[in-house]
Amino acid sequence: MDVPELPEVETVRRTLTGLVKGKTIKSVEIRWPNIIKRPAEPEEFARKLTGETIQSIGRRGKFLLFHLDHYVMVSHLRMEGKYGLHQAEEPDDKHVHVIFTMTDGTQLRYRDVRKFGTMHLFKPGEEAGELPLSQLGPEPDAEEFTSAYLKERLAKTNRAVKTALLDQKTVVGLGNIYVDEALFRAGVHPETKANQLSDKTIKTLHAEIKNTLQEAIDAGGSTVRSYINSQGEIGMFQLQHFVYGKKDEPCKNCGTMISKIVVGGRGTHFCAKCQKKE
Ligand SMILES: [Zn+2]
Repeated sequence: MDVPELPEVETVRRTLTGLVKGKTIKSVEIRWPNIIKRPAEPEEFARKLTGETIQSIGRRGKFLLFHLDHYVMVSHLRMEGKYGLHQAEEPDDKHVHVIFTMTDGTQLRYRDVRKFGTMHLFKPGEEAGELPLSQLGPEPDAEEFTSAYLKERLAKTNRAVKTALLDQKTVVGLGNIYVDEALFRAGVHPETKANQLSDKTIKTLHAEIKNTLQEAIDAGGSTVRSYINSQGEIGMFQLQHFVYGKKDEPCKNCGTMISKIVVGGRGTHFCAKCQKKE
């Protein structure tokens, strides 16, 4: 399983909503305090959440936002974080780091083998102006994410277009997989300098970024449907890719073997014939 990207986090959000919306937290057990980033004292985090009801679950980029009565809990799964809903008497293991026990006897467990995930607690409305959300660029389906906006952002940097698009200040939600897919679909070589793209190419790229992410989100209900694994955790099947993970397989457009190079330290898949540098 690859690192979750925006469409996968959206699938988790929808699944989690069905599982825990309306449940009230009876207690919070924190076994690995480093996951709790705000407030500084994990005991305060646990105390504030006690008695709170989960009203809804939102998403900003790859962050999940648990909207409670008096707080918003911002959670990032990073590499390996997963939520699962269990009965309190079910056994857990050493990778379960935060347990939210509900008043109905169920437990929402946060399990994270790498321990890179984070949780921040805010008063409602406060979260948008504070790290980690304050520096994020627009959502790909937001009104302000226009092709003119993308052009302005890309004109400011001579980094490779792939690197510029991975920057969550440009647009949120593009990770290593979907950025490769969007660049392929737009016919843009990933090493092209961001400020050298023509207006026409930026228009195409803008449309393909939106299409790629939206198709993956839409597929969340069918081909990328979420599933509950043997540990009771929410996972997901990913969309079929054109280039990502397809090294030495023929391009679906032209039959050329897909290449893999490193751009900005990230493994990058592309078709050398379909994606030309400008
Ligand atoms: Zn090709």
